[in-house]
Amino acid sequence: MLRLLLALACATPTPPAADAPASPAPAGPRLDPKLLERSRGSEDVDVIVISMDCLRHDRTGLDPASGVRTPNLRAFADQAVVFHDAMSAASWTVPSHMAVWTARWPSRHGLVNKLMPDPTGTKLIDATLRDDIPTYPQAFAEKGWVGAAFTGDAGVSARFGYGRGFVTFLDDRKFGGMDHSGPPARAWLAEHAAKERMLLFFHGYDVHGQAPLPDGVAPVRGDYTGPLDGSIAEQAKYRELALSAIRNPGDAASLGSALTKEDAAFLRGVYDQKVEIADARVGALLADLKASGVWDRSIVALMADHGEEFLEHGALDHGYSIYQEQLHVPFLIHFPGQSTRVDVHETVRTIDLFPTIADALGMPQLPDVDGTSLLPFLRGEVPTPPGPLLAESDYRLYVHLRALRKGDHKLILDLADGGVQLFDLAKDPGETQDLSKTDPRRAYEMEQELRTELLRWKTDPSRFLGRAEAPISVY
Ligand SMILES: [Zn+2]
Repeated sequence: MLRLLLALACATPTPPAADAPASPAPAGPRLDPKLLERSRGSEDVDVIVISMDCLRHDRTGLDPASGVRTPNLRAFADQAVVFHDAMSAASWTVPSHMAVWTARWPSRHGLVNKLMPDPTGTKLIDATLRDDIPTYPQAFAEKGWVGAAFTGDAGVSARFGYGRGFVTFLDDRKFGGMDHSGPPARAWLAEHAAKERMLLFFHGYDVHGQAPLPDGVAPVRGDYTGPLDGSIAEQAKYRELALSAIRNPGDAASLGSALTKEDAAFLRGVYDQKVEIADARVGALLADLKASGVWDRSIVALMADHGEEFLEHGALDHGYSIYQEQLHVPFLIHFPGQSTRVDVHETVRTIDLFPTIADALGMPQLPDVDGTSLLPFLRGEVPTPPGPLLAESDYRLYVHLRALRKGDHKLILDLADGGVQLFDLAKDPGETQDLSKTDPRRAYEMEQELRTELLRWKTDPSRFLGRAEAPISVY
């Protein structure tokens, strides 16, 4: 019977999302509903969430055009739902991961910076998630899952509230990679597998600009003869240089003419090499999951919290803008017993991850969340994935950006000066042609829709952000 169910777990390729018709017909199940029933109420389903920090989708083998070799991601994808157009809620670590943890937009969970005003509003203190906002890992703990997290610290440190619900929480190396978090994660897995229901979070900064390439950059230097060395210090220097261009509301981070296309290509080569190494490190955990039988009975998700820029919009690093190179991330979910690949090309949101897992397990959802289970869409009961498709960044108080995607179009609103940009992602995926002046009606309507969402949140950004002129020295 199980074999029959697995055979029914068929892939139904769908075309890339376009402007949705008024009453689209359901496209049929992407994933066999009977397969999804396997985990519902089951006592032996583990939950594994892998986050490859700073990994942009188009620099993985999930995008064949990348040329980047990620055989372990591919093997994962062969037995998973592969969301080809997944959007993170923010373009940097702290707000984005917490948006997944809480299934709330960053402005709604409030952790939009590493610092926040103290109760008197006169000084900035370390930010942490408010006590009255529950997280999904807490909900899993209350239902009996034993939680363990092995992280690279920095933006996912327990001090921000990420530790809630976990019995074990590793965050002892700032910007640590999976070479650091992997061995204890695998040891913990070996100790706990088949003994108790596990919630395992595995994270590392392997591809991040603040993580080194283990064997140096010489192997990827190739014909590059420019001045860059691909070091951590260099990355930080150019990030800060680009941020220094933001002097007035509405300004964008920019390196001006400080770097060339050849420089950017070299740095992207360094990044790609890191991606291949990170893939192997994830592969070591996946091998353990498969050897122990955990893979077959578990929900295993793989995601990234944001991407990375290599001069596509004039700067390096991430957080200071919300263009697609910083928002488009890998997003895969393997369901218990799933043995075939399912490709989804419609746009989805990473904030839907835990609501989807909870739904698959038959657990109640947290109250007052923005995320929604993707299962009705995967079962073909609704024609499109949940919306709205939003993103935001208040990175280190330099920018205050919000975005809305609708159909092929994306609107970016700068709260600092009210400026908007409009892009047609189908015709212009690199977001180089601002259509806000040539298609003002669409820009106006999308801005009103976006502002309506912001009003619905009933949040005052200044409540979380402090005063813009307050110096921020951490990141
Ligand atoms: Zn990150």
